[in-house]
Amino acid sequence: TVLANQIAAGEVIERPASVVKELVENAIDAHSRRIDILIQEAGLAEIRVIDDGDGIEKSQVPIAFKRHATSKINSKLQLFKVTTMGFRGEALPSIASVADLKLITTVAGADGYLYHVKGGKVVEEGPAASRPGTDVTVSQLFYNTPARLKYLKSPKTELGHIVDIVYRLALGNPTIAISLSNNGKELFRSAGNGNLHQVIAAIYGVQVARKMVAIAGADDDFKVSGYVSLPELTRSSGKYQTLLINHRYIRNFTLNKAIIAGYGSKLMVGRYPFAVLEIELDPALVDVNVHPAKREVRLSKEEQLSALIAKAIYERLAKENLIPDV
Ligand code: ADP
Ligand code: MG
Repeated sequence: TVLANQIAAGEVIERPASVVKELVENAIDAHSRRIDILIQEAGLAEIRVIDDGDGIEKSQVPIAFKRHATSKINSKLQLFKVTTMGFRGEALPSIASVADLKLITTVAGADGYLYHVKGGKVVEEGPAASRPGTDVTVSQLFYNTPARLKYLKSPKTELGHIVDIVYRLALGNPTIAISLSNNGKELFRSAGNGNLHQVIAAIYGVQVARKMVAIAGADDDFKVSGYVSLPELTRSSGKYQTLLINHRYIRNFTLNKAIIAGYGSKLMVGRYPFAVLEIELDPALVDVNVHPAKREVRLSKEEQLSALIAKAIYERLAKENLIPDV
């Protein structure tokens, strides 16, 4: 029902940035090579995500808007083996219940299909001209949930959240060309050539990227790779650390502490290095289903992984030898 979808939306869709995240993750799941995010007024007026992915078969489109209809979780066991970004079958129905959502999708070799839902009701549906892939436009977010609408912050703050999530998605997917523009002005673009260091440079600037070094480590359960900054390059906040598990941006405080530990005594108190770490593991070792927003992730063998991260960083920085260890 529309109400159930609105309730679900309350958990999954907090602000314009949540819409961006869900739409881009769907585009990633659909094997897109290129994803363009075009927003108006920091997403408060409009959020449009265009991809060149698989598209949705015409017959499957209405099903995609039914809650849990597409859920990839069929058993408790599967819950722990989630490898795609989406797995709850909640995002599209949730967004469509609290906004105006227009989707045009085309499967290679077939005609385009348009599906337009507002406040959970289909207002338009039928053939449409389009290129292979999916083009979703969300406007009037929270128009029918005044409490949510009131909770939204200034355009500047909402834009900050969007930029942040786009950065994390780009860092997690260097093989996909991702762009973001607001009111027609380009804010970010990644090349999609698989080079993580270049994505880091596009986000934090060349000066920062030059002071970041590649690290790598592995044991029987985990593979860690990525870039961390030299001890001389730090910030007063930990937000310049991105943890990715199987390409998915996650938050895990224990692992943030492991990064710091890797610097030994080289860091000043209260300073945080830059870090982008991709962690590969057997999905059976991660429970992504902790919160609907899927950010806080619970891990088995967290201590083992922490030790691996700290060691990989420590050994790499020891080689650098730029600042004597005291
Ligand atoms: P979930 O991603 O959890 O499956 P969503 O509500 O986000 O649930 O999406 C529902 C379904 O719609 C997806 O499983 C997918 O089959 C289809 N879908 C959504 N967006 C796209 C897209 N951009 N390209 C291809 N298929 C899509
Ligand atoms: Mg999804």
